[in-house]
Amino acid sequence: MALVLYFHQSLKLTILMYTKRGIMWFRQDLRLHDNEALTEALQYTDEVIPIYVFDERQFREQTTNFGFRKTGAYRAKFIIESVADLRNSLRERGCDLIVRVGHPEEEVFQLARQAKSSWVFCNRERTPDEVYVQDELEKRLWSVGQEIRYSRGKMLYYTADLPFPITHTPDTFSQFKKEVERYVPVREPLPKPAVMPDITVRLEAGEIPGMEDLGYEQSGEQDRRAAIQHRGGESAGLQHLYDYVWEDREIEHYCQMSDGVAGEGYSTKFSAWLAQGCLSPKLIYHHLKSYGEQGGNPKAVEGVFHALLWRDYHRFMAKKYQERVFAKGGVVDQADPRWRNDEHLLQKWIDGKTGIPFIDANMREIKATGYMSNRGRQNVASFLVHDLQVNWQMGAEYFESVLVDYDPASNWGNWNSIAGVGSDPREEKRFNIFSQSTRYDAKGDFIREWLPELADLPTEKLHQPDMLSSSDEEALNGRLSSDYAEAMASTGKWRK
Ligand SMILES: Cc1cc2nc3c(=O)[nH]c(=O)nc-3n(C[C@H](O)[C@H](O)[C@H](O)COP(=O)(O)OP(=O)(O)OC[C@H]3O[C@@H](n4cnc5c(N)ncnc54)[C@H](O)[C@@H]3O)c2cc1C
Repeated sequence: MALVLYFHQSLKLTILMYTKRGIMWFRQDLRLHDNEALTEALQYTDEVIPIYVFDERQFREQTTNFGFRKTGAYRAKFIIESVADLRNSLRERGCDLIVRVGHPEEEVFQLARQAKSSWVFCNRERTPDEVYVQDELEKRLWSVGQEIRYSRGKMLYYTADLPFPITHTPDTFSQFKKEVERYVPVREPLPKPAVMPDITVRLEAGEIPGMEDLGYEQSGEQDRRAAIQHRGGESAGLQHLYDYVWEDREIEHYCQMSDGVAGEGYSTKFSAWLAQGCLSPKLIYHHLKSYGEQGGNPKAVEGVFHALLWRDYHRFMAKKYQERVFAKGGVVDQADPRWRNDEHLLQKWIDGKTGIPFIDANMREIKATGYMSNRGRQNVASFLVHDLQVNWQMGAEYFESVLVDYDPASNWGNWNSIAGVGSDPREEKRFNIFSQSTRYDAKGDFIREWLPELADLPTEKLHQPDMLSSSDEEALNGRLSSDYAEAMASTGKWRK
C-alpha cells in the first residue's frame, strides 16, 4: 500500500494514512457504464489507475495456426478508436487512461509494481489466449504480494444467478433458454462513475498507437458499401443503441433473428461494440424492456433478447467445454475424415471466387468490410464445410482475423454447430445455398451490389449462372462477364 503524508499546518499535526490503490485493467470491456470491475475498484480503493495494453501478440507478433493475422485491420482500427474514446471519457472525469503496447501480463505487472498498488481489478475472460494472460499476470502479482480481483462483465446473466453450475449448463440452446428465462432475472446495469479519483502517483500516460505503429499497411477503413460504417468506442456504441431503439426506431422491424443480408436495418449491428465491451448486454436489455413497456413491438423485443441469449449460450459452452470448442472434432470429438486442409479451395472461398453468387457476394462483403450478416455467415460456413469439405477450423480462423466483431466464444461456437461438432449434434446446419439465395436475396440486389460482373443478368438467372444454357448465353449477348469464376459446385444439386 502506498504511504501518503498529510501535513495540517494550523494544528501542526502530521497524519499518516494509507492510500488503498488499485489498477483497473481494461480488456474487452472498453466502457464506463455497467462495468463491474471498475465499480468494484472504485468501491474498494481510494485511487484507481486505469490501464489498457495493446497485446502485441494479437496485433503483430502472432498468427493463427493457418497463418492469418490474429487481428485484422478492421478490428484493429475499431479497438484503437475504442481506447481513444475511453481515454477521453476518463479525462472528462479528471483521470486518465495509461496506455502501453506489449504483453499485458508484463506491462500491467510493471505498472502495478511502480504504482505500489494492492490489487488489479479486471473482468474475467474465459477463452485460452485471454486466460493465459490473466493467469500469468496473477502469478507475477503474487510474487510481489498483489492480487487480481475478477469480476464478470460480459454477459446478460451472472454465473452465480444461474440455476445450474457451469458444468451442468444445458447443451441445447432451447433448454438453456427455457431454464434461464424461467428462473433468472437480468440484473440492472451499473451506472457510469460521475468522477474518478485523482491519480497521485506519477506514471507516463503513453501514446495510443496508430495503425502503422501496430504494423498495419491498411487503414482499416471499410468499403462504402458496408452495412454499417463502424466506429469504435462506448460513445459511438451508446449513440447507435439510442438511435436504433429510440430515435430511428429501426428496432420495430427486428422480428426474426438476422434474416436479412443487405443494408443496415435488418439487424441491430450491436456486435462489434458488444465484442469489445463498448456496450453492455444488460444495458441493451434494459432499453429493450423500456421500449416494450412503452408499447414497442413485442416480437422485436423477443427477437433481440433471443439473439443476446445466443451470445450468452456460446459463452457458457466455451466455459463448459474450454479447448474442445477449438478442436477439429469440436465438443463431441468427431472430426469428419473428409475435411481437408485445402489452401487452394480456401483461398477461392476467401476471395469470393467460388462461382456461387450468394457465397461470393457474402465473402466479398466480409473481406471489404469485416462484417457479414448472420444469414451470410451460416451459408458461407456451411458451403465451406459441407460442399467444399474444407476443415472448418480454417474458415473459423479466417473469420477470427477479418471480423470487426470477432468474439472467440461466438465465432468458434457457431462454427462448431455449422460443422455439426457442437454441443447439440442435432443442430448441424447444412444449407441449401440456392434456396437460401433465392429466399433471402429474392431480387438479387445484394448479389448485384457485390458482384458487379453479374449485374446484367436477369434476376431469375442470377442465383445460378452455372446453369445458363447456350441459348440463354446467346440471348445475353455476352453480358455475362467472363470475369466471373466457374462454379466450384454445381448449383443444380440444390434444386433436386
Ligand atoms: C460462422 C459464424 C461465425 C460467427 N462469429 C461471430 C463472432 O465472431 N462474433 C459475434 O458477435 N457473432 C458471431 N456470429 C453470430 C452472428 O452472426 C453475429 O452476432 C451477428 O451477425 C451480428 O450482427 P448484429 O449485431 O446485427 O446481430 P443481431 O441479430 O442484431 O443480434 C444482436 C446481438 O446478439 C448476438 N448474437 C446474435 N446472433 C448470435 C449468434 N448466432 N451467436 C452468438 N451471438 C449472437 C450478437 O452479440 C449480436 O450483436 C457468428 C455466426 C456464425 C454463423
